[in-house]
Amino acid sequence: MSDSRKIVSIVVPFFNEGRNVELFAQGLTPTLAELADITFEIVCVDDGSEDDTLARLIALAKTDSRFRVIELSRNFGKEAALTAGIDHAKGDAVIPIDADLQDPPELIAHMIAAWRNGAEVVLARRIDRSVDPLLKQRSAAWFYRIYNRLAHLKLPENVGDFRLMDRAVVEALKTLTEQQRFMKGLFAWVGFRTVTLDYQRRARSSGATKFSGWKLWNLALEGFTSFSTLPLKVWTYIGLAGALATAAYAFFIVLRTLIIGIDVPGYASLLVAILFIGSLQLVSIGVLGEYIGRIYMESKRRPTYIVRRRYGGSDES
Ligand code: UDP
Ligand code: MG
Repeated sequence: MSDSRKIVSIVVPFFNEGRNVELFAQGLTPTLAELADITFEIVCVDDGSEDDTLARLIALAKTDSRFRVIELSRNFGKEAALTAGIDHAKGDAVIPIDADLQDPPELIAHMIAAWRNGAEVVLARRIDRSVDPLLKQRSAAWFYRIYNRLAHLKLPENVGDFRLMDRAVVEALKTLTEQQRFMKGLFAWVGFRTVTLDYQRRARSSGATKFSGWKLWNLALEGFTSFSTLPLKVWTYIGLAGALATAAYAFFIVLRTLIIGIDVPGYASLLVAILFIGSLQLVSIGVLGEYIGRIYMESKRRPTYIVRRRYGGSDES
């Protein structure tokens, strides 16, 4: 596919990244210059930033026509911002990348080379996450371990949203219309011929991470419930096991009463049994709630994001 001039879209979500706008553009420029035979468009999504991110992005789009800006009407979260960017990208290949330069732009040249060799998806795997806090590294490792064991979908480990996708993959992705989007899962679900490259994760160029522990926990929940119904079904087996154990214990009590008579003490064991079963029931109702809540939200069919305005490129509005 090297004969005709290809367009590659780079999709970047920005949420309160004012100080990173110019840093990002500077970091990206050498790579774009190196790949002179490709036309680039950089789709910057402003995810309802409260600082000067939008103003800086608009200024950038004015001086460099390759940059386009999609302004969302409020903060919709990274998954929605990415979706917005991918929906607006026009390229033959699309590369989502973080605005904080934690994903090295140099890798884009290698991704494009792999794509030209026939790969439809090029994944970027972090071989070294030592810049992330230890707790995040550990929890991420556990997430992948549990996820890949329980969910039907296999998520490639240590692969983020940074990747290259051919137009065919992007079109497939667009047919997945769910409103609650776990992008990593959706990316993996569509499949296609995949090649993996390794890279070193860098420290943030400026500012702090937007993902607190609580946000990550909710992202993990979203990931599980989007691609597995196991948490719903497991209660049948827990219940069956409980019922079997109870039957065995009942049989034992009947025998013991017949042999050594009625034995009155038993307050502690009774209380423990009641509390244990009660808690188990609450947990199972909670799991039901997670799924029903998602069915409810999904049934409203609200859009994933709302665009306020677009700047730059041919779609100035
Ligand atoms: N981001 C976003 N909306 C949000 C949170 C984050 O668009 O609600 C963007 C953020 O600006 C950055 C990318 O998502 O470009 C990754 O965020 P961050 O660096 O905070 O995540 P981490 O690298 O710590 O996982
Ligand atoms: Mg980051």
